Amino acid sequence: MDYFFEIHKGIPREGPGDAHSTRKAWEMCTDLPEKPKILDIGCGPGMQSFDLLSISNGWIIGLDTHFPFLLDCRKKSILNQKFNSFYSINASMHHMPFAEYGFDVIWCEGAIYNMGFQKGLYTFHPLLKTGGYMAVTEISWIADNPPSEISNYWEKEYPGINTVEDNLKSVTSAGFELIGHFILPESSWFDNYYNPLFERIIALQNKYQDEPEFQSCAAETIQEIEMFQKYSKWYGYVFYIMRLIRN
Ligand code: SAH
Repeated sequence: MDYFFEIHKGIPREGPGDAHSTRKAWEMCTDLPEKPKILDIGCGPGMQSFDLLSISNGWIIGLDTHFPFLLDCRKKSILNQKFNSFYSINASMHHMPFAEYGFDVIWCEGAIYNMGFQKGLYTFHPLLKTGGYMAVTEISWIADNPPSEISNYWEKEYPGINTVEDNLKSVTSAGFELIGHFILPESSWFDNYYNPLFERIIALQNKYQDEPEFQSCAAETIQEIEMFQKYSKWYGYVFYIMRLIRN
């Protein structure tokens, strides 16, 4: 039993995010074709994919390594009558089976950390058409001098975490023009992610009370939530919206 995925099963999102922020980022991507081709990398259960489908008139390929999330997306595409515009691919962002310059937009909410922000930008870059957009969210330091408890915590959990300024430099050094960036509201951590995760842990407690692996996975999740409750002034999820310029 993989308790991480047992805890994460059936929740609306797999990271901070919300429909309003997805729309806000989308609206920064102007002059797109009538029916843009969008690649959603690390789509998870697909909340942002279907938000994008409803506002973009485009078609989307959702790519993820975890097959059950793609099944969730498939169900949503049928429920939302979007099965003609949503496709899914069970593959890794490290080896994406696409030709170069194929997409008008690359979307990646809460997943580029699997590669690291800078490496992700370089890796995704060749798949975009010239003039295409990329919108990604990444956990980032949003204030100087975070207390040692939280800097040590993230140093251990995700040493790739950077300041917003450093990430903005990565955007330009990877050959993109920065279109905009903004911090996601705190509600987008709780409404679709931490609250449902916490409820799921409570619901599973009895079933797995004698399973130490479940208990340790649950404790790690609760610790992460408590860290955010205590230290959200210093870090957040940031949307970075950029456009590809090629000479
Ligand atoms: N975009 C979704 C999910 C974010 S969580 C949301 O905002 O809700 C990160 C997602 O990346 C998970 O669905 C996980 O299965 C996926 N993932 C992890 N490693 C990956 C890889 N190497 N390639 C593609 N997807 C990956």
